[in-house]
Amino acid sequence: MDYEPKSAIVTGSAQGIGKAIAVKLAERGLNIVVSDILYDEAKKTAMEIEQSGVKALAVKTDVSNAQDVKALVDTTKEAFGSVDVLVNNAGITRDNLSMRLSESDWDLVLAVNLKGSFLCAQAASKIMMKQKYGRIVNISSVSGILGTAGQANYASSKAGVIALTKALARELAGRNITVNAIAPGFIVTEMTDKLADNVKEEYITQIPLGRAGTPLDVANVVDFLISPAASYVTGIVISVSGGMVM
Ligand code: NAP
Repeated sequence: MDYEPKSAIVTGSAQGIGKAIAVKLAERGLNIVVSDILYDEAKKTAMEIEQSGVKALAVKTDVSNAQDVKALVDTTKEAFGSVDVLVNNAGITRDNLSMRLSESDWDLVLAVNLKGSFLCAQAASKIMMKQKYGRIVNISSVSGILGTAGQANYASSKAGVIALTKALARELAGRNITVNAIAPGFIVTEMTDKLADNVKEEYITQIPLGRAGTPLDVANVVDFLISPAASYVTGIVISVSGGMVM
């Protein structure tokens, strides 16, 4: 019950929310695999993390590619001896109104956000099942709960991530693997930097706590979900949105 995890894969962790999660889990003493499609940035993040005294490895991964994902999980097992934690954080947006949304932007967002989470969970859980221990945290979004105009592809992918979380939680519970999701609201990162100032201001007016979130706000909840304190928590979605969703 009190097992402290020793190793974590955080996808999309070269920057943004994923980086904050990787740093937070390193502070807890976990060895970290910084997995991202951006290899140079991932290497920089891994070097920063090593300064906290744990081991960190950068692995270039496209989470929508099954071969990359297998290599990611095999490398982690080889380097650290176990795959205790998986955080499915890699995600992209390709926003447009449905009338104008291209088929390729639909396919790409679903492939990275939803299929990528599935492939990583499938590969990691093969090892976690043998270990009879695992913690999987999927990063969804309030868009996947509320639906957001202009994000039919993204909202659908993130709703899918919530259903995936629940299905996996039921399938893996018997092997002491918990699977939970976090639905962040409006968090300041490279992803949200792209939004126009008036769109950002509009988001903030919808947040009861009156401010945008930080990557650390999300990382703190991941830290709880992978801790022994959360060993009886599985299949849930925690909204980290300043009250946008309650
Ligand atoms: P971010 O700053 O763009 O970081 C995501 C990282 O994932 C980037 O380095 C990105 O590289 C990488 N990535 C993209 N495609 C990938 C792929 N196929 N395989 C592996 N890595 C890939 O985004 P963020 O804001 O930190 O978001 C992190 C997660 O939180 C995402 O799942 C996002 O949907 C979710 N989220 C964010 C917010 C928010 O307000 N920021 C709100 C709700 C949910 P590129 O830069 O090349 O794309």
